[in-house]
Amino acid sequence: MLPYGRQNVTDADIEAVSAALRSDWLTTGPRVDAFERELAAVTGSPCVTVSSGTAALHTAYAAAGIGPGDEVVTTPMTFYATAGTASMLGATVVFADVEEDTANLDPYAVEAAITGRTRAVTAVDYAGHPAEYDTLRKVADGAGAVLIADAAHAIGSAYRGRPVGTLADLTTFSFFPTKNLTTGEGGAVASTDPDLLRRAREFRTVGLVRDRSRMRHPDEGAWHQEVHEFGLNYRLPDVLCALGSSQLRRLPVFKARRARLSARYDELLADAPGLRLPTTRDQVDPMRHLYPVRILGGRRREVFDRMRAAGIGVQVNYIPAYWHPVYADLGYRRGMCPNAEAFYAEQLSLPLFSDLTDADQERVVETLRTILES
Ligand SMILES: *Cc1c(COP(=O)(O)O)cnc(C)c1O
Repeated sequence: MLPYGRQNVTDADIEAVSAALRSDWLTTGPRVDAFERELAAVTGSPCVTVSSGTAALHTAYAAAGIGPGDEVVTTPMTFYATAGTASMLGATVVFADVEEDTANLDPYAVEAAITGRTRAVTAVDYAGHPAEYDTLRKVADGAGAVLIADAAHAIGSAYRGRPVGTLADLTTFSFFPTKNLTTGEGGAVASTDPDLLRRAREFRTVGLVRDRSRMRHPDEGAWHQEVHEFGLNYRLPDVLCALGSSQLRRLPVFKARRARLSARYDELLADAPGLRLPTTRDQVDPMRHLYPVRILGGRRREVFDRMRAAGIGVQVNYIPAYWHPVYADLGYRRGMCPNAEAFYAEQLSLPLFSDLTDADQERVVETLRTILES
């Protein structure tokens, strides 16, 4: 089965991991610092590495102080973790609808969802296309809320010439194998606010405070460390950071290949019947994580099944987050976000990853055309 996404791992990656395994550090060592510095150069903001994209979201919300009584406004067109990690901290998640064309969080829907309890607004750069950050910033600031970007799809993307990582107060990344670069499991939190970043770092490191100037009992002894707020062990090991550094070097190559494959899909499918292709707004330079088409005429499920039967691993991204039984059980009802639901009903992700060959892509296109024309 041709997958919809997969990693690219080279001999250089394997060498980098082997070197880490032969070194003195398996977990927190020099490769963590190096990967964090290199990530900062790409994202434009200091970064803290964590053990997954889900951990990154949990860490970002914890750093922002999100808890019971707070409301977090976010998009339903995302992987469940964008919402679920806020719910786990005791916050109430409020789903606002998406824009009809990009499937990104609609700033005007956010504005309508703001209340006196809104503490965070979380956008997702769906498929790698940055959300409308200038407007989201105004709405979040107006509400006194923290702006968070779930950029699991979008490392390497830019909005109005500014890199993803600098557009929100906190930005989260995922390095799962299907994403734009991988560490197996892994993620990161970026922030230009030193206080938010320190809080993120402490939360990811079991809440431990090692800075003597902040200790309540600084004279306890050289061994002493303190916990001031609860945290978790969300560290990304040195061995995986070695893989991340090696992968990050190829980010421009990955971006160029994904852009070329997307442009080729645009071209080869331009006149296919019953199909709507993804749009790109002028102000964005996306890292193409997904190639999401819309299958018209109520045929999405049929097309999905027939593509899979032909050995082509298409995917659906995503079921609206509040359709998950965990949210249904809390009283969230279908119909809340009509644009997101209409998008979901038609959405299909075609295979897109940097090792996808031109020949494989042509097979995807021919198979899809045959199905659509029959
Ligand atoms: C993949 C993903 C996550 C979660 O990342 P993991 O590394 O799988 O935990 C969160 N949000 C979005 C939008 C994602 O695509």
